[in-house]
Amino acid sequence: MLSLKNISKYYQSGGNKVSVLNNITLDIDEGEFVSIMGPSGSGKSTLLNVIGMLDEASEGYYYFLDKMVHQLKEKQRSALYKENIGFVFQAYHLIDELTVYENIETPLLYHDFKSSERKALVADMLDRFQIVGKKDLFPAQLSGGQQQLVGIARALIVKPKLLLADEPTGNLNSKQGEEIMELFQKLNKEDGMTIIQVTHSEKNAEYGTRIINLLDGTVASSKKL
Ligand code: ADP
Ligand code: MG
Repeated sequence: MLSLKNISKYYQSGGNKVSVLNNITLDIDEGEFVSIMGPSGSGKSTLLNVIGMLDEASEGYYYFLDKMVHQLKEKQRSALYKENIGFVFQAYHLIDELTVYENIETPLLYHDFKSSERKALVADMLDRFQIVGKKDLFPAQLSGGQQQLVGIARALIVKPKLLLADEPTGNLNSKQGEEIMELFQKLNKEDGMTIIQVTHSEKNAEYGTRIINLLDGTVASSKKL
């Protein structure tokens, strides 16, 4: 599904070049459920953001569904992202001024869905996540767990081929976390969705089919489960 070749990422800091990703070469196949682990600051979020096209590498090649992402123009890259990728953030990144319903609907506005189709898709998601009763509330009126469910519903509504999640259970209690891991496992096994998650939890990592350990911006190990 995607292939990174010699990907590096640097930041300029007071005249110094700070290296965050260091010559990463990595292939991820369709149908994998990959857990990325590693110490804080090892480059996990940066790697996920590069894969999710929210950030660009400084060097290297990135192929996604046989497209050369590193050569695409901003507009084409953003179209590729919207068409294929769902992103779940640790800090939810919901839009405060929009209701639960409107937050979940947002990604559909970038696609050619009729209003009636949008309504049906959002209703499905509200149902699936058992948040129908919350649809007119604003994010600030929800618990952390509920906000994360809305974030996940929003990521899933376009039925992405690839779901990326940066510490999706970081702010949840263990029961909520388990429910989300079970949902991810089901999406992967039953719907064949490719998933890449960043996690600090060994237990959550083991829901996946492969664990990648990052250390100082390099892949220290990659183990199939
Ligand atoms: P992780 O998610 O593994 O904790 P990150 O990918 O967030 O790590 O960050 C890796 C390193 O890159 C950190 O040392 C961080 O300070 C640095 N970094 C991230 N973003 C920036 C930025 N915009 N400017 C400078 N340094 C950054
Ligand atoms: Mg991070």
